Amino acid sequence: MRIELVNTGTELCIGDVINTNAAWIGQRMAALGLEVARQTIVPDGGAVREAIAEAAARSDVVLVSGGLGPTNDDVTRESAADLLGLELRQDAAVTSHLDAYFSKRGKPVTSATLRQAMVPAGAQVLMNPFGTAPGLYFPAQLGAARGWKAHLFLLPGPPRELKPMVENEVEPRLRALLPDGESRRVLYLRLTGIGESDIVEAVEKQLEAVPRLELGYCIGKGDVDVRLAGPQETVDAGARIVRERLGEFILSEDRRVIEEVVVHALAARGEWLATAESCTGGAIANRVTDVSGSSAVFGHGLVTYANEAKQKHLGVPADLIETHGAVSAEVARAMAEGCLAASGADHALAVTGIAGPAGGTEEKPVGTVWVALASKGCETAARRFFYPGARDRFKLLTSQAALEMLRRRLHGLPLPG
Ligand code: ATP
Ligand code: MG
Repeated sequence: MRIELVNTGTELCIGDVINTNAAWIGQRMAALGLEVARQTIVPDGGAVREAIAEAAARSDVVLVSGGLGPTNDDVTRESAADLLGLELRQDAAVTSHLDAYFSKRGKPVTSATLRQAMVPAGAQVLMNPFGTAPGLYFPAQLGAARGWKAHLFLLPGPPRELKPMVENEVEPRLRALLPDGESRRVLYLRLTGIGESDIVEAVEKQLEAVPRLELGYCIGKGDVDVRLAGPQETVDAGARIVRERLGEFILSEDRRVIEEVVVHALAARGEWLATAESCTGGAIANRVTDVSGSSAVFGHGLVTYANEAKQKHLGVPADLIETHGAVSAEVARAMAEGCLAASGADHALAVTGIAGPAGGTEEKPVGTVWVALASKGCETAARRFFYPGARDRFKLLTSQAALEMLRRRLHGLPLPG
């Protein structure tokens, strides 16, 4: 099913308003297993008519946003009616909605306002409980005379009006139009600790051999989504392939991010986490505390940036730092073990590295980082990672690697090599 968006509004073209409707609709369509084939932004005025005509001539579904309001530059309704040769008639239900809307606010209904009650003959009204302008649905047969097969939806521009209308009015109609109806499914397998090209290498051939499976990849913040869409059996077959070949890298199948997975896993085990961070400046603690319910698993996060802080709060011996340097496996391990002891937690994560741009050496270039994980009753593990690049990216990827070490330990998986 080919879907196109036409987002109208001069404010979008000149950059005063960001086209969040397009992004949001794209996500909603993806969740239905549908893809938006093209998005067009046009200014208010005559360009709206032209854009609708172009999109309708080559698509199965056209979703138009904006330009349904009462002002002169709102021409979407009239443009669509004109293109399809439909007469506009005043609709009784919309008129009474407008009456009620304005009388509640103690304002008169003006003739400009009443334009919004004009409905092209044959179009269905999509009521707008959060605003004045209703949406409109033109079933495909209304365009048949022009040789179009497109179902056309006109939606209000304001996101708080558009979103409920898409969910309550548009999506049920699209689902009914799909050949395999409700059985269509989308699954996001979220992977971490492995790059996109390695994922492709490992599974793409097999996935492409599954008939009717639609496949997509999306790189996130420290993770990669493999998106599988199609009929239920097809998605199941695709998921089996990814689970079989890359199971240990799959962190969630419900779009949870790693901090959520880790907090939920700790909560399920009744265990506590503590952190001792240097170069990440609290990024791990920040991510963990983004998760609702983290207070049941996290009570102790230290930022020990200076060597003295590592000594004073974590008991890292000064000569250890002197011998191996602050960025070393030995110091990372001592930080994690010191943090475990000081906090009484079940697991302690520690990181120490060189975020740059200054401070690198040949032996320890900028981007070098050690992550250590100490857990009660386990041998402390330390792993070296290398994330050269901007400081925010370094912090993000380091915190991801640390949380991934913990995720693996909580799930009984081997730690990265
Ligand atoms: P109104 O009755 O408010 O005039 P309308 O359906 O005519 O509604 P527009 O006039 O096109 O819609 O847009 C109204 C406001 O909605 C814009 O000023 C903008 O703030 C917001 N808006 C419109 N389109 C978008 C979009 N694509 N993404 C995000 N916001 C939008
Ligand atoms: Mg408007």
